[in-house]
Amino acid sequence: MTTIAERLARVHAQIAASCAAVGRSPDEVLLVAVSKTHPPATILEALNAGQHDFGENRPEEAVAKIAAVQSAGPAVSPRWHMIGHVQSRKARLVVPRFDMVHSLDSVRLAVKYNSLASELNCELDVLLEMNVSGEESKSGFATAGWPDSSTVRESLWSDIRSILSMSALRVRGLMTMAPLVEDPEEVRPVFASLRGLRDALRCDFGQVDWAHLSMGMSDDYAVAITEGATIVRVGRAIFGPRVEDGL
Ligand SMILES: *Cc1c(COP(=O)(O)O)cnc(C)c1O
Repeated sequence: MTTIAERLARVHAQIAASCAAVGRSPDEVLLVAVSKTHPPATILEALNAGQHDFGENRPEEAVAKIAAVQSAGPAVSPRWHMIGHVQSRKARLVVPRFDMVHSLDSVRLAVKYNSLASELNCELDVLLEMNVSGEESKSGFATAGWPDSSTVRESLWSDIRSILSMSALRVRGLMTMAPLVEDPEEVRPVFASLRGLRDALRCDFGQVDWAHLSMGMSDDYAVAITEGATIVRVGRAIFGPRVEDGL
């Protein structure tokens, strides 16, 4: 049986190899271990193995697990990343607990996060989730066709402009989820497209650093890194198959 520590070591080795292939430093890539469905004990095991960043996708599940992990008094406090779609009415569970929200997918939700963060006198680090592939099942701002369609571009740019005006939100970059495919090479254009979009936003909204591209999961993070990912969100390759009764 392989342990979490061994799987983490393998993922770090793959990250290093993918970075080396394109002349990047592995220090440029943050590994977020996606612990959704897994119990607090598993998170503590990963923490002990030196993993500090964890991703969760459901606010209620995360609230309980964050409390459980905290009360175990770990030597190092984990950093929490919200990676799943959040309904507006659950945003208040997220703001005080998460270090970064990857899944900001509408202006409406941004308004909500901004007002909650203002009330708490804090700033929330967010990534804008982009639906690059255009799949209907996916959350995120519609980007399909942005380089050619001025309609898509104007609507997207206007949403982004309004989010950038919200003083309690700190926009740090973009996030996307690639479609499920057999061969991870098939989704390379999705990752390349997110990077292209980031470069365009950098030109037009220079006041933001646009530092992060959160892209790549267990099956495709190696490809995502060669396309410029700065954050990869890896679940199954670290924790094994998801458990359906996680708590
Ligand atoms: C579950 C999930 C992941 C991790 O997926 P794995 O295939 O387990 O690596 C990454 N990102 C998001 C948004 C997810 O919901």
